[in-house]
Amino acid sequence: MNQPLLKIENLEKHFPSAKGSRPTVKAVTGVNFELNEGQTFSLVGESGSGKSTTAMMILRLLDPTGGAIWFNGENIAGFRGKQLKSYRKAIQAVFQDPFSSLSPRMRVGDAVGEPLVVNGFGSKSDVKDRVREALEQVGLSAEAMDRYPHEFSGGQRQRIALARALALKPKIIVLDEPVSALDVSIRAQIMNLMKDLQEKTGVAYLLIAHGLDTVRYMSHWVGVMYLGELVEVAPSEELFTRPLHPYTQALLSAALPSHPRGNRQEIVLNGELPSPLDIPSGCPFHTRCFRQRVDACYQQKPLLREIAVQHVVSCHLAEYGR
Ligand code: SF4
Repeated sequence: MNQPLLKIENLEKHFPSAKGSRPTVKAVTGVNFELNEGQTFSLVGESGSGKSTTAMMILRLLDPTGGAIWFNGENIAGFRGKQLKSYRKAIQAVFQDPFSSLSPRMRVGDAVGEPLVVNGFGSKSDVKDRVREALEQVGLSAEAMDRYPHEFSGGQRQRIALARALALKPKIIVLDEPVSALDVSIRAQIMNLMKDLQEKTGVAYLLIAHGLDTVRYMSHWVGVMYLGELVEVAPSEELFTRPLHPYTQALLSAALPSHPRGNRQEIVLNGELPSPLDIPSGCPFHTRCFRQRVDACYQQKPLLREIAVQHVVSCHLAEYGR
């Protein structure tokens, strides 16, 4: 089997708490997954589940406290100098708010061209040609180059942010809530554009999104995070049609049914998400679980195990469904 483009192995990020070295905030613990060329792996879960911290480590904006991130078979922790620079070129990001990556004072042409200039792409005219090409890839004309971001609609600004991310022809783009700030009518256009770009360029996406419709539409694989750990990972359709972890079932039940006459009963979880400073013992989900819990739920931490082909779940009772 081919080597994955990105392999996340036992990834961990524990922060010392504000009051000293103990207890620690366990933001991410023991996360494993792979991302392949031309595919989308999505991370879902409530705010504070560790999705963004995982993405920050992959972007090398945060250093892990354990585990490894392998890019084309090499551990990125060892990247320095030229190797680090080429990794930073290969992995780009698009965020919810395009203004976070687009300076309001910079013309679109300069904003899209900035990563090229920083990376010594070539002459001024090479940069201009590549900017024009990137804008065309996202459906904007070269005229956009001389205008400012505020002159564009939200959807067009997100196209510009995508063009900026694409300019360096990356292997991976981290998409952090890329459509959640957009009008519903525009979301489908941007999702279609991202899928189309993936088909044409082979770029891989790591998608972080709350909107499960977006996740289902975009993803090949989905990982569900709870309190910093993956509790279920499966191919997208398998996960959406046969969720096995009670937490995943609750998340999906809260989303709109896929058919207007769909009859999905919402599962309301007990209580709030526990603090990552004080993760419950046994199964971390036992304080909110709606299943008939057994002694093992309180005493023994369930490990991720394969329940169906390529479908892993960390629940002692996963085989019994709901
Ligand atoms: Fe619920 Fe027990 Fe499964 Fe945890 S192990 S999710 S508490 S049934």
